[in-house]
Amino acid sequence: MYSKRLDSLPPYLFAQIDELKEEQVRRGVDVIDLGIGDPDLPTPPHIVDALCSAARDPANHHYPSYAGMREFREAVAAWYRRRFSVNLDPETEITALMGSKDGIAHIPEAFVDPGSYVLVPDPGYPVYRTSTLFAEGRVYEIPLLEENDFLPDLAAIPRAVVKKARLLFLNYPNNPTAATAPMEFFEGVVDYACEHDLVVVHDNAYSEVSFDGYRAPSFLSAKGAMEVGIEMHSLSKTYNMTGWRIGMACGRMEVIKGLRQVKTNVDSGVFNAVQHAAIAALTGPQDSVREASEVYQERRNLLVAGLREMGFPVALPQATFYVWMGVENGFDFARRLLNEAGIVVTPGIGFGKYGEKYARFAITRPVDRIGEALDRMRGLDL
Ligand SMILES: *Cc1c(COP(=O)(O)O)cnc(C)c1O
Repeated sequence: MYSKRLDSLPPYLFAQIDELKEEQVRRGVDVIDLGIGDPDLPTPPHIVDALCSAARDPANHHYPSYAGMREFREAVAAWYRRRFSVNLDPETEITALMGSKDGIAHIPEAFVDPGSYVLVPDPGYPVYRTSTLFAEGRVYEIPLLEENDFLPDLAAIPRAVVKKARLLFLNYPNNPTAATAPMEFFEGVVDYACEHDLVVVHDNAYSEVSFDGYRAPSFLSAKGAMEVGIEMHSLSKTYNMTGWRIGMACGRMEVIKGLRQVKTNVDSGVFNAVQHAAIAALTGPQDSVREASEVYQERRNLLVAGLREMGFPVALPQATFYVWMGVENGFDFARRLLNEAGIVVTPGIGFGKYGEKYARFAITRPVDRIGEALDRMRGLDL
């Protein structure tokens, strides 16, 4: 009944965990969900207010423009300039997205022909892989290994693959490993992309969730990056706006143009009132951003200290709201935590085969719940 394309998608492993979770909930277990990458904190009130007043204005009730309102793109340009010292032309180098997932899901349509390769980090955000498969491209998994600080070894990618590769997906600060990338890494990526004529798509969804004074860079700050690629960004994680569906793609003009062309044929843009709210977010007070990182930092400290006390070798992440922990078998570990302690974590295999021996904790729950989860874990023989 279904297309070969749909049948080619990998099984959705998270669904199995969801089922096990539902079973626990039905039994009346007080489940602590550390599985989801969705902030528990609310969207700051001034952003909600901007939406409400914009929603009341009939001028905003029509089809939006495909690329996003000029004012929104200017706010993005100003934010990139302020935050990363990156200069972008709002006309040609920025386009609005319905969240960065929208951009990631559609970019292969613009650059990938059937049979050409897309270089996809493994473990990684699952959409890099599925969007490649939808475009009938071939996925080449670039392993993110702990011994390389979860940075890919680009030189290890076979020549035959690189010759047929069109896109390279990257994501730092990284989901699920919580690794960060230094600017020198991005500079190496630019050289590699130039040499092999690749389009780089850097996913920077977590640039504003960081700790201990660390500030994540933009790929676009690397010398020459504007000639080889784009950055997908989003308001979802920065301003607790996952439900709002707004993000942006920024960078090389030709790449933005290709993405716009695909999207023009798929959707009709982001609700203007949501764009007005996004302008309020990007141009308004940024205290909530720092405060959210402080909240996550406290949770991170508690969780990492607790896990270390139990003998788990976990790194202290500098960014993202994830803790990535090595275990013997991530799926068995997640199943045991759920069945024996009512705690949901995500098995690393859900992010790719190189995630098999890991589990991901999302610190998107208050400290008392994380403390409770640790207490329950201490009662198990893990
Ligand atoms: C959350 C997330 C996204 C998607 O965010 P949007 O809500 O679609 O903007 C993209 N990439 C990674 C790695 C994420 O974790």
